Amino acid sequence: MSSSGALIYIGAPFFIQKKHFHSILTGLDSFMIHHANNPRWMDWTWQHAHSCKDVATLREWLASTGTEFHIPGHQFNEITSSYRMGITPYYFGLIKQYDNTDPIYRQIVPSPDELKILPEELEDPIGDENPARGSRPLKALIHRYTNRVLLIPTAQCAVYCRFCFRKRLVGDTAHNAREEDLQKAYEYILSHPEIEEVILTGGDPLTLGDQALRNILKALDNIPHLRIIRIHTRLPVVNPFRLTPGLGNIITSIQKPVWISAHFNHVAEITETAHQHILGWVSMGIPFLNQSVLLKGVNDSVEALKELFISLIEMKVKPYYLHQADMVQGTSHLRVPQQHGLELLRKLQGELPGYALPHYVLDNSDGSGKIPLQNQWVTTI
Ligand code: SF4
Repeated sequence: MSSSGALIYIGAPFFIQKKHFHSILTGLDSFMIHHANNPRWMDWTWQHAHSCKDVATLREWLASTGTEFHIPGHQFNEITSSYRMGITPYYFGLIKQYDNTDPIYRQIVPSPDELKILPEELEDPIGDENPARGSRPLKALIHRYTNRVLLIPTAQCAVYCRFCFRKRLVGDTAHNAREEDLQKAYEYILSHPEIEEVILTGGDPLTLGDQALRNILKALDNIPHLRIIRIHTRLPVVNPFRLTPGLGNIITSIQKPVWISAHFNHVAEITETAHQHILGWVSMGIPFLNQSVLLKGVNDSVEALKELFISLIEMKVKPYYLHQADMVQGTSHLRVPQQHGLELLRKLQGELPGYALPHYVLDNSDGSGKIPLQNQWVTTI
């Protein structure tokens, strides 16, 4: 292993630019070196298939770094019985400090704090399925805004983020769309000429195979009044190998513009690997946005947010939204008070060019949409 120059080489699959290296340096001595000669490390399907899903694997991975996992088995089962765990080997390799002080560990390793459910916390904190609004007319489709719909082809994700606002459905195969559900969704969109944009979300649409994605994109491309397609995905962060040239070609073969909205929350997630894969797609003409969630102990400082947003711009990804964490059950340990979020954004305004500053927003729990929070600076700060 050499650490001289701008690039650090650590075995066949690993070239890491030094300036982005801080996030994985500690883990190299153990977990990463264990995988250094794995010829399939850069195969997204291998990463997906070898995700850590049970406590025995988690203990094994942590033990390989010399770390003992302190949550007893029965408590771990209690936490994951209501919300599963999933960690790709790649994402685990980004952990630097194997405890709750690490921004990656904190986002992805189950914590006993999740068992604390506050009275004001909700199962469906953004009102996806508010019956009063009738916003989920079909299994695979949510229609909350007049001119855009969410299409949910799968409920599976590559990882299971501990703060997820759709904890109630992600990972549950009962929520995966069947072909007939997708056909009904296409018919719905076709019969609603006011719909201009379809957002593929989930779950994570990029966990689907190329053929399934091609079919969905082609079907949407054939709807004349539809103008834009957007894909919400965390794969560029947790399994960037999914951004293959082959899938890029499928996306660019679509006549309508297809925007990718990634989900980076911390600069430690912006590795050279992620950078190169995103730039590969950007060079094919695929535009990127990013949505982040403001998370306690992860990115709740001016320094962390500034570095995240500037690094996104360097990667040609536009910071779009910074979400106030939703009132989802068992996530109070990750939520930042809104007042603190406003202070952070106000300070960032002087530190960043306008195009690098995302909109700080809160999703209304009644399903009526997003509330921009910056407007409150004048009156609350
Ligand atoms: S990838 Fe998105 S939908 Fe899936 S668990 Fe994470 S936040 Fe939730």
